[in-house]
Amino acid sequence: MTLFATVADALDFAAGKHAGQLRKDEQSPYINHVIAVVRILAVEGRVSEETVLAAAALHDTVEDTATTFEEIDRRFGPVVASFVREMTDDKSLPKQVRKDLQVEHARTASIGAKQIKIADKVANIRDIVTLPPVNWPLARKIEYFAWAEQVVAGCRGVNERLDKTFDAAAMEARRRVGNW
Ligand code: NDP
Ligand code: ZN
Repeated sequence: MTLFATVADALDFAAGKHAGQLRKDEQSPYINHVIAVVRILAVEGRVSEETVLAAAALHDTVEDTATTFEEIDRRFGPVVASFVREMTDDKSLPKQVRKDLQVEHARTASIGAKQIKIADKVANIRDIVTLPPVNWPLARKIEYFAWAEQVVAGCRGVNERLDKTFDAAAMEARRRVGNW
């Protein structure tokens, strides 16, 4: 398959899996976030690696839908499945432990996963600015920005464009929401 065909296939697979799900603003279709992450990588980060872009399209399928790693491995191969594994929190752990582990795991993540992690945090920061989760007070938004910055600190140095994209998104969040 061409790069375009693989990414289209992964986005279509993700659209089916996330069908009916909304983001925490309780209005946006979940797939909008997935598309935003692929776009940030391809357009802003100029990433053209097929496995990274396909994994970005699939990055929340195991965590947030009934999809299994085996299913992804069979359809998209072991490299994509491995990136998705790196993007998937263990939901049996308490939320704060999961947050701490994301910070810890970022430093040793693969180059592909580091780029997807940065793009994911950029998309979420932009959403908190423009389409915020309902009922999040200012303090919780600020808490998220500070934590995202810690995760991204461990991902820096593999794609300068994405590092700068994150810094610009964080600066905009500071300007429009509040400082941390
Ligand atoms: P988060 O606080 O981590 O929620 C943010 C996540 O939701 C994002 O990473 C994103 O993940 C997803 N998301 C969905 N819609 C949006 C949107 N519109 N904008 C931005 N992100 C969106 O997750 P939890 O609700 O599970 O809470 C976990 C943590 O929050 C715990 O550490 C807990 O202690 C803390 N907490 C803090 C509170 C406070 O008031 N300070 C209150 C309650 C909990 P993805 O990319 O995977 O979709
Ligand atoms: Zn995500």
